[in-house]
Amino acid sequence: MICNAREAQGLPDLSYRTERLGVVSTDTDSGGTDFSGGTDSDPAAAVLAGLDDDQRAAVLAPRGPVCILAGAGTGKTRAVTHRIAYGVLTGATAPQHVLAVTFTARAAGEMRGRLRELGVGGVQARTFHAAALRQLRYFAPRVFFGRAMPDLLERKAALVGQAAARAGLRLDRTGVRDVTSEIEWAKSALVEPDEYAAAAAKAGRDLPVDGGSLAKVYAAYEEGKRRAGVIDFEDLLRSTVWAIEEHRDVAEQIRSQYRHFVVDEYQDVNPLQQRLLDAWLGGRDDLTVVGDASQTIYSFTGASPSYLIDFGGRHPGSTVVRLERDYRSTPQVVGLANQVIAGARGEAARVRLRLIGQRPDGPAPRIAQYDDEPAEAAAVAARCAALVAEGTPASEIAVLFRVNAQSEAYEQALAERGLAYVVRGGERFFERPEIRGAMVLLRGAARSVESGQPLLGAVTDVLTSTGYDPGSRPAGGAARERWEALAALVRLTEDTVISGLVPADAAEGLPVLVEELAARAAAQHAPTVEGVTLASLHAAKGLEWDAVFLVGLAEGTMPIIHAKTAEQLEEERRLLYVGVTRAREHLWLSWAASRAPGGRGGRRPSRFLPVGETEVAGATPRARSKRKDRGLPVCRACGVALFDTVQRKLRRCSACPADPDEELFERLRTWRLAVSSGAGVPAYVVFTDATLTAIAEDRPTTVDGLGQIPGVGPRKIAQYGDAVLALVGGADPETVVGVAEA
Ligand code: ATP
Ligand code: MG
Repeated sequence: MICNAREAQGLPDLSYRTERLGVVSTDTDSGGTDFSGGTDSDPAAAVLAGLDDDQRAAVLAPRGPVCILAGAGTGKTRAVTHRIAYGVLTGATAPQHVLAVTFTARAAGEMRGRLRELGVGGVQARTFHAAALRQLRYFAPRVFFGRAMPDLLERKAALVGQAAARAGLRLDRTGVRDVTSEIEWAKSALVEPDEYAAAAAKAGRDLPVDGGSLAKVYAAYEEGKRRAGVIDFEDLLRSTVWAIEEHRDVAEQIRSQYRHFVVDEYQDVNPLQQRLLDAWLGGRDDLTVVGDASQTIYSFTGASPSYLIDFGGRHPGSTVVRLERDYRSTPQVVGLANQVIAGARGEAARVRLRLIGQRPDGPAPRIAQYDDEPAEAAAVAARCAALVAEGTPASEIAVLFRVNAQSEAYEQALAERGLAYVVRGGERFFERPEIRGAMVLLRGAARSVESGQPLLGAVTDVLTSTGYDPGSRPAGGAARERWEALAALVRLTEDTVISGLVPADAAEGLPVLVEELAARAAAQHAPTVEGVTLASLHAAKGLEWDAVFLVGLAEGTMPIIHAKTAEQLEEERRLLYVGVTRAREHLWLSWAASRAPGGRGGRRPSRFLPVGETEVAGATPRARSKRKDRGLPVCRACGVALFDTVQRKLRRCSACPADPDEELFERLRTWRLAVSSGAGVPAYVVFTDATLTAIAEDRPTTVDGLGQIPGVGPRKIAQYGDAVLALVGGADPETVVGVAEA
């Protein structure tokens, strides 16, 4: 369902901002749990092990400005967390002097988790907003004239609606949300109401109402907020900047507390956040930034890769490290990613990196064309089912699309196949009532559990008391969802024990587990509930799966129809690049020639798909026959275009099974030729082609079964029965001919 332009673009629902920005439960993630004192005699040396030369260079770069320009899956987060850990473990930096910031609660949680695993506690790893909130709360009495911090306005809709009315504008809900997005953009870009109209025109913003009216709503909203005595998320950052810039004592205290700064995903920084970073630094230069300009996909919210790209210019004498080795994806996936981004133009393309795949070879990515969208969705669902049947967990498969409205077709197609799925952006794991309940019970059990019992057993016991039966997955939607969530909690427990994060003994482990769960809940770092992931490309950022389907890659959807300027089109290309680089191994790209069955088929494939390869795509008989006319190689089983030489020789893609009938038929024919020429009779006297086809299709394993096949009577069975059964069993025709003759 399309609610507004933001959702239609596949963007996250901002009603979840509080959690997304990591400003809830900021007290649970003090980073204070100290897991240091591991078994390694030299933990600092251990931090260097497992890094490649470039990563090590990033970790060992001297104090001062460091810029790590790194592609997707190259170990960006690994490099920065190891740099922090190395500094702390060698004693060069005190953990409480480090402030590591990023942009989403999930990413901040990821950093904290990795630091803990490296045996480093006490480092602040937060989102910009969470860090600002903490500081502003602390300094509130000083900067707000003795009063507590104003309340934080979590949802702007009501105030924006009132402001619009005051400005003489009637807006529906969708209109309010779009106007809100504009106000957020303006505040993030440090644009004031009276500058708004000009700035929006210059930036080529796609405005829901005219710039002048929007500026009035913006001004009225600011006024309404002041009167209500509340501040919004952007004000949180602005107030912190102001507190530091205008209050010398505040600046001094913050700057003596934080001396080393790290920013992950720096290409996502906006002018307001950059201003805060500058305020924190106060002219100092102990700053490490890491980012990938090719993954800039939030420009429309005010984020700008310029700060990353121009880092060297802003910080003369900085160390620049490039990471190009991709540890996530197969060379085949990496190859396609490089092709997609190779055509990039503009600012972000200046620092484009060519990724070098480090993993073993995998299947070639496939680009397929379908007649219509339902056919595309059905084929994708069928392929998901095949992957699951081959052993890929459903949670390791993702279907990614450009706009949220595309989700529905895939939900239906997967449901028809009986495949579970999760829509990213749906209910969050730790907010589910059964998980909240389980956490309360686990916290209670942590106080009373006795030593000697394994942690996993204790956790399962606690969950069983709520009616959870690990051995039986119930039927029915809601019950199954509940069961799956609890099963995921058990898996999560298992993972933390295996990774050594939590002790395996219940008495020791349960309190640690409870803390770990609370920290993850705060970070919204939910384990995947078993099921195929459906997500927009925006929501897929930073995530990875074994198998990824990028669907709907037709012009108008990718790039999206309203992307018009060169810059907007480049952002669309980067969005596809982000999608491609999510796949570890299997990657399918597809598009449909029409929306509905029987359509005119006038659509064209996305301009970003590699030239030549997009033309040859197709998976329907119609598309297949067209391609055959052009003599281009396709898989004989599914009709998809073949790019890989080995696959071209096999005449099938690696994803499709060898056609057993065809292969057996060939062996039967070879055997028949040897027998007939040995006996000096025509081949059909031994068996006709039709009989061989029937044998190849039925694959009988017994004499009786063979006798059922038309054209196989008692005489033929006596003469050739053993030979045919041996061939069906996989025997080589030459050895069988020998047996038959003997
Ligand atoms: P993203 O683009 O999603 O932010 P990233 O660049 O931050 O990715 P990481 O998440 O740090 O990359 O690493 C990607 C994967 O590669 C992780 O599973 C990580 O453990 C692994 N990895 C990174 N460096 C190495 C290495 N030197 N040797 C082996 N594996 C590595
Ligand atoms: Mg990362």
